[in-house]
Amino acid sequence: MEDCIFCQIIAGEIPSDIVYEDEEILAFRDIHPAAPVHVLFIPKKHFANLGEAAPEDQALLGRMLLVIGQEAVKLGLTEGYRIVSNFGVSAGQTVGHFHLHLLGGRYMGALC
Ligand code: AMP
Repeated sequence: MEDCIFCQIIAGEIPSDIVYEDEEILAFRDIHPAAPVHVLFIPKKHFANLGEAAPEDQALLGRMLLVIGQEAVKLGLTEGYRIVSNFGVSAGQTVGHFHLHLLGGRYMGALC
């Protein structure tokens, strides 16, 4: 999608600090990290959020979680980590391309 910043990162038009890439998934460090390790995992296919995901995205969504689990170990998050996805304006979603935040490397308290 032309005006999507994450699609531009996928296309290599905007630089990013990539930590993982395969044919369907890209992971790169968040430009404004909220934890010592803060990596965004995105599908290369553009959809804004889970509400726009299609039944055929089921395997991709599941694989994103498996990839995060594998990469979390490689990133040294042996003590634990948090996975976050903001859906919509009221949840604080600022980029309209589905993404999962992987956060770790510090103690994180209760969500609310
Ligand atoms: P969200 O607020 O859940 O939509 O998350 C979007 C995230 O994308 C924020 O944490 C931003 O810091 C991050 N972000 C925005 N632009 C970039 C970029 N060019 N490179 C890396 N992370 C970015």
